[in-house]
Amino acid sequence: MSGPGCRNCGAPLRHTFVDLGMSPLSNAILPPEQLNSMEPFYPLHARVCERCFLVQLEEYERPEKIFGDYPFFSSFSETWLRHSREFAEGAIGRFQLDARSLVVEVASNDGHLLRCFQQRGIPVLGVEPAQNVARAAEESGIPTLAKFFGTQTAVELHSAGQQADLLVANNVLAHVPDLRDFVAGLKRALKPRGTITLEFPHLLRLIQGNQFDTIYHEHFSYFSFLTAADVLAGQGLLVFDVEEIPTHGGSLRVYACHAAGGSREPSARVSEIRNLEIAAGMRQLKTYAAFAEQVRETKRALLQFLIQAKRAGKSVVGYGAPAKGNTLLNYCGVGRDFLDYTADVSPHKQGRYLPGTHIPIHEPGMIRKTRPDYVLILPWNLRDEIVSQLAYIREWGGRFVIPIPTAEVIE
Ligand SMILES: [Zn+2]
Repeated sequence: MSGPGCRNCGAPLRHTFVDLGMSPLSNAILPPEQLNSMEPFYPLHARVCERCFLVQLEEYERPEKIFGDYPFFSSFSETWLRHSREFAEGAIGRFQLDARSLVVEVASNDGHLLRCFQQRGIPVLGVEPAQNVARAAEESGIPTLAKFFGTQTAVELHSAGQQADLLVANNVLAHVPDLRDFVAGLKRALKPRGTITLEFPHLLRLIQGNQFDTIYHEHFSYFSFLTAADVLAGQGLLVFDVEEIPTHGGSLRVYACHAAGGSREPSARVSEIRNLEIAAGMRQLKTYAAFAEQVRETKRALLQFLIQAKRAGKSVVGYGAPAKGNTLLNYCGVGRDFLDYTADVSPHKQGRYLPGTHIPIHEPGMIRKTRPDYVLILPWNLRDEIVSQLAYIREWGGRFVIPIPTAEVIE
């Protein structure tokens, strides 16, 4: 396989992590008038670098096209809002942030995290590439630059005197096509004694939890702790602390500072995670090579459940329209032959159709009207929240199905 080489170290990419076939862009939800048009599909083939073990997709489509009108407004999830408040409270105390500080968030979405800092009197600035989302944030009172973040944007911030005391980049590292330029930009935008926090789904948990559906075109890179720390070190940043957090089925939050100056000693948790990953084989190609068969078996298990349910005359609907659901449904070949529809709380998605499968998206009230036998929870990372919100399906004997790590019915 010839290609541009590893996004981090440039080595040739010769090893498959998992090949999920051809898939449309996960967030390309269709309005009714596009149902009869051609739809672009791209390879969803993740490879692992034999030198630095970065798991990655090639960049098949320009990020502007992927993120230009991004329909994800994270404020709709209660779990996310709570996560944001807790993070902000922790950071304000730990890094002694006050009215003289600046908190900058990269990929700030609708500004819900920055609002938690702003409400405590701390100046904030968001950087958000999706124009429609940046505009909504700005209108709600969160200063927001509608830009992609990278070295160029960091230089502009620097010359405008806007370096960060706390620079937050949560769930963005995976989305960055030019990884080295992005990380160099983080360093540039950080005050000499400032702190960077990065959250990203933990590749070790992805493998252990069989979370292959979190692989989609918008996620270019998948990081172990070891690889993430190497990427940061390559640009002069030192990881001095790390926490495991439950978001996205198991994520890491790493804390980094300028490597030069050496004021901060890495915590014991840094060596604990390193040792954990080395023991789990994250520095060995065979660990990655074993993943693909595990994924194929998950597809067989989900299809087996759905085929048996349909043969027994049961009705099945989906819940949620997350990006991961599209990887799952397209890879498994699950369309309207199995799922009558899916239901999502976001009014931006209702009345539209999932890409590829063309499953219609309705509002959640539809579930009470149609009384399905099974509800397949696509955003399985929010399963507890959704199971309690939809507890009423038990009134008619409805049951929940969780697709990952393997198809499981919850009584
Ligand atoms: Zn590499």
